[in-house]
Amino acid sequence: MATYEYRCPHDGDFEVRLPLGQAGASVNCPECQRQAARVWSAPLLARTPRALGAALDRAAQSAETPEVVSRIPGRRAVSAAPVHPARARLPRL
Ligand SMILES: [Zn+2]
Repeated sequence: MATYEYRCPHDGDFEVRLPLGQAGASVNCPECQRQAARVWSAPLLARTPRALGAALDRAAQSAETPEVVSRIPGRRAVSAAPVHPARARLPRL
């Protein structure tokens, strides 16, 4: 079995698992049943998880057009660390 990628013009990309050599030039979209054309891609690259693909897209977009910060981001509140009992008697600086 191999995973083949197809692209529906209305629903986008989807994958179909078929025996090797059995993939046609088009299949019916599982969502709308319209003809979806096969997408040729390098082996294994088509299985990039969507979240990783989205992160890579954001990184590429950020490299081209980085987000502009109009003000200095606020400081995070520093939580007071618990004071060790032995340090409580030391003079404050
Ligand atoms: Zn479709």
